[in-house]
Amino acid sequence: MTLPQTVAFSRNSANVFFHILTQCNLKCRYCYINPQQHGQHTLPLSTIQTWLEAFSESSHKKNLIFLGGEPTLHPELPAAIRFARKMGFGSITVDTNGYLFHDILEKVNPGEVDTFSFSLDGATRTTNDRIRGKGSFDICIAGIHEAVSKGFNTSLIYTVSSANINELEKMVPLLKKLGVGRFFIQIIGLRGRSASKEADTAPEGILQVERRKWLDTVPRIARMIAESGITVSYPKVFLNPDEKFECAGRVADNYFIFPNGRVYRCPLCEDFPIHSLVFKEDQLVPAAKLNESDFFQLNIPEGCVMNKLIQPHNLSYREDGRPEYKIACCLLKEEIRSE
Ligand code: SF4
Ligand code: SF4
Repeated sequence: MTLPQTVAFSRNSANVFFHILTQCNLKCRYCYINPQQHGQHTLPLSTIQTWLEAFSESSHKKNLIFLGGEPTLHPELPAAIRFARKMGFGSITVDTNGYLFHDILEKVNPGEVDTFSFSLDGATRTTNDRIRGKGSFDICIAGIHEAVSKGFNTSLIYTVSSANINELEKMVPLLKKLGVGRFFIQIIGLRGRSASKEADTAPEGILQVERRKWLDTVPRIARMIAESGITVSYPKVFLNPDEKFECAGRVADNYFIFPNGRVYRCPLCEDFPIHSLVFKEDQLVPAAKLNESDFFQLNIPEGCVMNKLIQPHNLSYREDGRPEYKIACCLLKEEIRSE
């Protein structure tokens, strides 16, 4: 029997999520990118290199994830990858929608990129393309095949919402067929387009999945996927009142960098100008107060403060006013290793 393990937060490794541009060829319905808050330009290679250097001194293991927008739209992504390798980043991942621009798979090799991580939001063309755009399912599948055939490690990200949770089970045979190494289930957060008025009027109604539905569906299907030989992780989301709550902003080392120089420690804060760090003249310095780091210090019975501020409909209270459960940090994951 495969059991989920909570992946504990650690300060012994740093995770750098680097959005090198916000431009994208797709227009996914629930895209979390917010160009007004994140900037609209493409970072030149020299800036990418200088900003990466800001993290090079840490003696801890450093994991780097290149993101966008669509990071393969950046013509100098291969050079950025090679520079990061030289700077000592222990693992390098490229998150892609599968379009793999600029022949990226021809320009880097599996020794340079640890993983290409693809995104699908449906197990069928109909559901995925309704969310991510016409044609995106077939292109993503073709991109995965190509990456696998060239010897790259691949993973797949599936963001669960009310629009696609009913298709999660169908991912089990599809993942097997594709030959991806890992599967990441995410939960939709109300950020970017999913927080917009447009999303409020989506045919599915409220996008976030109700607690009972999540608990009845996601851990069960994650187990099935692990039993089929693929390591899977998914957000913990709900904590019992007696389970320990920890805010990654206080106890882990994550950095979410955007082209306008903002650096957040918490993804739920990214729609607001409350980043705790900023690149100013290429130096990484603390941002003006009040900022997200002030929120991280608040202890509330509901768990995550940002969740209570931006997604309060997730919460439920007993008659005496105490919360029925706590909301975990959005970065807290359960992992089931393949058998
Ligand atoms: S979610 Fe990703 S692939 Fe979709 S529009 Fe946004 S950046 Fe592009
Ligand atoms: S999601 Fe909540 S708990 Fe996690 S870092 Fe952000 S504020 Fe802290």
